[in-house]
Amino acid sequence: MIEVKNLHKRFGNLEVLQGIDMKVKKGETVVIIGPSGSGKTTLLRCLNLLEIPTAGEITLGNRHLVFTESVKIKEQDIIALRKQTGMVFQNYNLFPHMTAAENIMEGQVTVLGRSRDAARKRALELLRKVGLENRAEMYPHQLSGGQQQRVGIARAMAMDPDVILFDEPTSALDPELVGEVLKVMKELAAEGMTMVVVTHEMNFAREAADKVIFIDGGRIVEEGPPEQIFENTQHERTMQFLSKIT
Ligand code: ADP
Repeated sequence: MIEVKNLHKRFGNLEVLQGIDMKVKKGETVVIIGPSGSGKTTLLRCLNLLEIPTAGEITLGNRHLVFTESVKIKEQDIIALRKQTGMVFQNYNLFPHMTAAENIMEGQVTVLGRSRDAARKRALELLRKVGLENRAEMYPHQLSGGQQQRVGIARAMAMDPDVILFDEPTSALDPELVGEVLKVMKELAAEGMTMVVVTHEMNFAREAADKVIFIDGGRIVEEGPPEQIFENTQHERTMQFLSKIT
């Protein structure tokens, strides 16, 4: 589904990604962990071209993009790739002047060209799926953080993306609201959605990940199934990180 080769991203003199290679198979949940500032969010944002990589290659389905400093990526490639990748943000990023249902309809109508009726039907189905069928007409400020994030997940799903990227989806939430969001994410993973998740929730990684990738200093230090990363850690740096966080 996704293949990333030798991906680099530089901000000025700061090389944040220093040659990332990764593969995500269809239906897999890949969890990216690592210290703050190690490049996790930048990697995720490069996958849907919210950041344009400095060098390297990204293949998503049958779309193949090569990045170099001299060649500008075409706008149509950026739009096409964004359609294939849903994004769930740390701070939900819902439109404040739209109801939950309207938030989920917006992209379906403007980007996918669905009719308002069809988009609303799908929005209501998805709200039911994330346990918010009776919140359709509420505005974001009337919802808890956990409910807003579940709307965010429904909004990403409504676009029928090939993969959903989650950027620390629970780190802005009060602790008692984290569980309801992780539950929805676990259900999605179990249903075979392809997911790439940046998170500090090690229990989610243990229970839901097919593969865990540990990043430090813009490089992948270690990757493998959760049993290997958590119970049979190979690298000193991974061990140090895990001992601090768990
Ligand atoms: P993580 O998600 O692992 O905490 P990030 O990918 O957010 O790490 O950031 C990695 C590094 O890149 C940090 O040093 C951060 O300050 C820097 N960085 C991220 N985005 C930008 C940007 N738009 N401009 C300049 N530096 C950035």
